[in-house]
This record gives sequence, C-alpha cells and structure tokens, in this order.
Amino acid sequence: MRIAIIGAGMAGILSGIQLDAAGLDDWTIYEKADRVGGTWRENTYPGVACDVPSHLYSYSFALNPTWSHLFSPGDEIQAYFERVATDHDIVRRVRFGDEVTALRWTDEGRWHLTTASGHTDEADVVIGATGVLHHPRYPDIAGLDTFAGACFHTARWDHDVPLAGARVGIIGTGSTAVQIVGAIVDEVGHLDLFQRTPQWILPQQNPAYEPSAQAAFAEHPETMADLHATLSQLFSDGFANAVVNADSPQIRGIEAACLDNLESNVADPDLRERLRPGYRAACKRLVVSENFYDAIQQPNASLVTEAIERVEPGGVRTVDGVLHELDVLVLATGFQVDAFLRPMDVAGVGGRRLDEAWNPRPNAYLSISVPDFPNLFLLNGPNGPVGNFSLIEVAELQFAYIAQLIDQVRSGACRGIAARRDAMEDHEAARVEAAKSTVWVTGCTSWYLDDRGIPAVWPWTFDRFREEMAAPKLDHYERIT
Ligand code: NAP
Repeated sequence: MRIAIIGAGMAGILSGIQLDAAGLDDWTIYEKADRVGGTWRENTYPGVACDVPSHLYSYSFALNPTWSHLFSPGDEIQAYFERVATDHDIVRRVRFGDEVTALRWTDEGRWHLTTASGHTDEADVVIGATGVLHHPRYPDIAGLDTFAGACFHTARWDHDVPLAGARVGIIGTGSTAVQIVGAIVDEVGHLDLFQRTPQWILPQQNPAYEPSAQAAFAEHPETMADLHATLSQLFSDGFANAVVNADSPQIRGIEAACLDNLESNVADPDLRERLRPGYRAACKRLVVSENFYDAIQQPNASLVTEAIERVEPGGVRTVDGVLHELDVLVLATGFQVDAFLRPMDVAGVGGRRLDEAWNPRPNAYLSISVPDFPNLFLLNGPNGPVGNFSLIEVAELQFAYIAQLIDQVRSGACRGIAARRDAMEDHEAARVEAAKSTVWVTGCTSWYLDDRGIPAVWPWTFDRFREEMAAPKLDHYERIT
C-alpha cells in the first residue's frame, strides 16, 4: 500500500512514525515549506510558547526528559519535533517545498496527487494533516494597507523589524497577543494593545525543570509516562470535560481563579473594569498567562479600548478621534479556521468536489472521513476536539482509529472506505444538539463558532471522544470493492 501524507507538522510526523510501526513504510509526506514542525515552524513571535504543559504536549511514544519548563517555549517545541522526526527517520521521506494542489480519486480506486511543481503521485490512502490554525486571518480595517511602518500578522513575524524603542501596536487580545505583550513590553518604546473584547486570564506559574529533575526523568522514563497520564486526566477533567457543560463546577472554579487574578493584580480600578470580561470563562479559548496583567500596567503600555476607526500612515485612529502613532503594527487577529485541506482541489467519487461537499461549511464524520472521499482521512479535521488541552493526544487517538480503517483496505476487505452519508448527517445533527449546552454558546464570539454561531468543535466530553476513537463502527462506513 502506498500512502501520501499532507503536511509535516505534528500530525504528519506522527502519521509517518505510526505507519512505519504498522509495517506500512511506503509513504511520502508532502510539505509546502522547507522544514518540519507546522505551527511551531510558522509561529516565531516573541513569547511564543505552549500553554499546555510540555510533558502533556509530547508524543506518548517520545516523551522528553529535557523540557526546560512546565510550559516550554516555541523554539524548544520546534526543536523537539525536528528531533523526533530525525530520530524516527521521517525527515528523509518528506518532499519539502512542494505544495499539494490537487487530489483526484481515480476509476482504479486510488488517489492521484498533483503538486505545485507538476510532480504527480498515486496513493491508496491519503492522510490530511494540514492543521487547524494555519491560514492567517487579516482584519477588515479601513486603511490597513496605507500604514507607513512595518505591519505583519503574528504567524508571519518579521524578525528584521527592530522593536527596541519602537512604538508598537498590537490588534487583538487572544492567546497569541497576550504572550507577545508580556515578551516585548520591556523592550519597546511604547506598546498600544487594541482590545475589542477583554479576556479571562488564568494565572500560570512557569517553573523551570532543574537539571536534577531532567536527569531523574531520563533515568526513570516511567515517571514521565505517569506525569503524561496524570496531566492528561487533569486537563480532560478540568477543561475538556468541563466546557461541554456551561454550569460545571470546573468552569465556576476557573472563573473564580481568573477574577481573583484580576482583582489582586490590577491596581487601577478603571483599568480593572476595562479588563473585566462580560461573558463566561472558557466561552472563548481560555487565555493562560503569568505576566499579562503586570505587563499591561507598565508605564510604557496602554490598553486601548475605543474601537478602531481606521489605520492611517502614521498609526491607528480610534473612534474617539485619537491617532495612536506607531512604527510597528502587529495583527494578532487569529486564523481562518474553516479551510482545512483547502485551497487544494479535491475530487472524490464521480468527480465530486470537496469544495462543494464543504459548502456552506466543512464537515466530516467524527471529523475524520467525508462521504464520497474514500481513503482520505483527516487528522484534526472539521468539528474535532479543540481547546485548552493537547492536540497531540487528539491526533494520536484519531490516528489509531484511522489505522483501523486502513486495515480494512490493507486486508483486502475493500478497496476504498468512506463514511456513509446518513451516518455523517446523524452524527452532525447530534453534534449540533449537544453543542447547545456548551459554554461556547453562552454569549461571546470566538473562532470556535461557525457562520451560524454554532460551535464547530467536538461538543461532548473527552472521555466520549476516547470511546469513539477506540474502534470504528464499520456499519457507519461504505466500502468500495
Ligand atoms: P484569536 O484567539 O482568534 O484572537 C484574535 C483576536 O483578534 C481577538 O482578540 C479578536 O477580538 C481580535 N480581532 C480580530 N479581528 C479584529 C478587528 N477587526 N478589530 C479588532 N480586533 C480584532 O487568535 P490568536 O490569539 O492567534 O489565537 C488563536 C488560537 O491559537 C488560540 O485560541 C489557541 O487555540 C491557539 N494558540 C495557542 C497557544 C498556546 O499556547 N497553546 C498560543 C497562541 C495561540 P474579539 O475577541 O473581539 O473577536
């Protein structure tokens, strides 16, 4: 069997390693960039880190004794993925710098793949590992292109632009912006943070692992496995299982901790009120920070809460008429989250286009398989679990499920396998119903919501996700022989 994997980020590397382990070693990873690492390769903004503990945000089969901190920085995470990929002989089998532009299901029951360079390939199975937070979302603000200084999105950070002494503006207050504020406030001349919506900020300590602790992990790897399991349970119970019920005690506890953080650490009552969120905690993805409130109270930092009217050559003008003069404008405005495999042109059985199947919005049975697109399996696909937990864990569970679908083809039980349309529609109806009691619909906007305001995410507990991923219900699949 030949397998094509699209994307050499966390999920693509995982796929290569697990396919090898299953004895399926005829595969190629297609990667449009020139290095592995995905989101960790692309996000190099100051302060980039993972707010999921490093000993949880690790492959379960490649635990890492040398994590420097409880929440390690982005460059260390990137180095980890590169190391794991090299150690498992993945890198050599990545075709770098070549973007997959088209996939076509042939009459012979294989996928025909075309890349931007004109290279073609045929594969029995395609694994889409293209990530979720991938395509930058640029804000629709009048005059943005007239700005005379440097302007870039956080996922396209321009390291040639000096920040020392500069007047820097940041638009957005998501997890990304909050990490940047804490990292650059001491360096810049002045920082303006343009806040449209205040955030709940969960306080976080970030202790370093002493060399002795790292040595102990290396000597007793089972302690890392225990820690991984403990953290997994903690994050399942504390976040993933909690957000599906807006009235859960965990959400109330998170709100209390965030409010205490705000009351105890923001001295000026006016600033405190402007930072106070008016919706439920975890409605947007919860922001975790040890230094944001401290940073925004520095004398060279301003929280701007007047709405932005337009961008001008000299800076950002707010609706109160004030021009906030800037040298650098950072767009921390998030990502388009409904692209997934697109803009790839994907044609399934009978020439059916994925773009049509995903109009008006993307969907996949259990976020993995799309009817009429056999043997095309998605990792971290539409409507899957996302939140304050490890997407590595999600991808590992999904891969184990996908491996069982691949086994159907490998064993000769069928040539192609895809979710049945009725199974996907039933699943979707149940998903939309379940989403109604989650915290994501309690009165905020966020990237979790689709164009109808319905959460485009897994609305059940993480425990249920584990159960669903344990084994495919094969009667929910159509098999092509
Ligand atoms: P985000 O959470 O989508 O936040 C975008 C921000 O930009 C929001 O504050 C939004 O305001 C603001 N915004 C967008 N358009 C605007 C406009 N036209 N005018 C003014 N403000 C505007 O994006 P993000 O911070 O990049 O984070 C995205 C996700 O990446 C996170 O939720 C998380 O899943 C992931 N992430 C994870 C980590 C980690 O440590 N694990 C770190 C960074 C990011 P509104 O709130 O008013 O819409």
